[in-house]
Amino acid sequence: MDSKEFTVSNLSYALKNGRITSFEITRKIIENIREQEEKLNAYITRVPDEKVLSLAHKIDEKNTGRDNLSPLSGIPVAIKDNISVKGLPLTCASKILTGYTALYDATAIRKLKEKDAIVMGKTNLDEFAMGSTGEYSCFGPTKNPLDVHYVPGGSSSGSAAAVASNMAVYALGSDTGGSVRLPAFFTGTVGFKPTYGRISRYGLVAFASSLDQIGIITKSVMDSAIVFSEISGYDPLDSTSYEKNAFMLSELEEFAKQRFTIGVPVEYLNSGVDDKIQTYILDVIKRYEKSGYKIKEISLPHSKYAVPVYQVVSTSEASTNLSRYDGIRYGLRIKGNTPFELYQNTRAEGFGDEVKRRIMLGTFCLSSGYYDAYYARAQKVRRRIKNDFDRVFEDVDIIITPTSPTFPIKIGTKIKDPVSLYLLDVFTTTANLAGIPAIAIPGKEKLYGEFKGGFQILAPAFMEANLFKAGLFFENYLS
Ligand code: GLN
Repeated sequence: MDSKEFTVSNLSYALKNGRITSFEITRKIIENIREQEEKLNAYITRVPDEKVLSLAHKIDEKNTGRDNLSPLSGIPVAIKDNISVKGLPLTCASKILTGYTALYDATAIRKLKEKDAIVMGKTNLDEFAMGSTGEYSCFGPTKNPLDVHYVPGGSSSGSAAAVASNMAVYALGSDTGGSVRLPAFFTGTVGFKPTYGRISRYGLVAFASSLDQIGIITKSVMDSAIVFSEISGYDPLDSTSYEKNAFMLSELEEFAKQRFTIGVPVEYLNSGVDDKIQTYILDVIKRYEKSGYKIKEISLPHSKYAVPVYQVVSTSEASTNLSRYDGIRYGLRIKGNTPFELYQNTRAEGFGDEVKRRIMLGTFCLSSGYYDAYYARAQKVRRRIKNDFDRVFEDVDIIITPTSPTFPIKIGTKIKDPVSLYLLDVFTTTANLAGIPAIAIPGKEKLYGEFKGGFQILAPAFMEANLFKAGLFFENYLS
């Protein structure tokens, strides 16, 4: 089997039928890493080859003759380096965590390990997941496997690049404002962010706690659904996690028969979106319509405030979450004559410019004189954004929007202009602010150099099944 065909569903089928072994899969992934990692810079830390191979071998032995295997058993996965994997360095691509090793497994990792997934290593990201291109990493930028002159998107840059280049079969990322969906769009992979609370955040390093979710990057919609069903669910270690209508793969059986009503928000397809992206999405919507889906124009009037609201809420939460990096508790310590000087020196040296910008902005928004004008106001507008979605979801089952207003940008071209990068999140942040699930689906046609089109589907909270069904319908019949 060529590693291009390495999807979770193909491999778990082949493993069950004895047509391939986990050892062979893992060896092939290692080969791909040897060939491409130097050029792409997708991994920060790798589990040594002998270790992953001997684990694969053990899993093969354990699985021979067994039915009822988890579909993830014996399949290699890459993990974004802001998720805790016991015994591996946890860097968040920040100098401030130099020398820190994770002391425990995140709940999502524990579940993966229980299913005998093979963790290949930790992937590159924008420092503390703050960014849209992967360039704000203290380990240097990850390159886009489709064209190495371009960014792979961020902040889950390494996870997306690893999956797109077959250096992992699937990967976990995190999505606070679009960080799995944007890199998925830029690399031609599937990026999925669940409803807030569906996947435990225990062991995910906090950026903006009311927005953060662990997300999944795969090569197919089915893989996304499989991984989701294996790692979601209530966790006593995360009080915001939720069991409601636990997602079952069997819900997807009817996908070929079901015809949804698609909401098309007028506000999302106006100016500012690249012409080719826009034309492609309108075409996709027509393809759905021809196959029996219903189309309804809808309005989400408050979505235009999503980026500023996201900036205020996320930087405010980040400024408090990141106060724990003080030179005492974790990683880097730069000495000073007083404790205060030690904090100051460590934070000045340890954080990069973008993280500092956000801490300053967030601290300002929360300061007593300005709290009402910025933070409290932003929370009110956030509620209106959510109310818009609640209202339209009374009439439609899913919403289709662009994932990004533009195609990937060249490395180094926008790094000095952070505001232009914040605007890349215009279509992704609403799902985090409203807490609803979203999936970025890649198109098949090349529209700009090596890059394909793609689109985003949104669904009501806890209706992930709608996203997967509509995505499977596209993958199987429309693309
Ligand atoms: N690009 C967004 C930001 O810079 C989103 C980041 C994320 O989802 N982690 O904050």
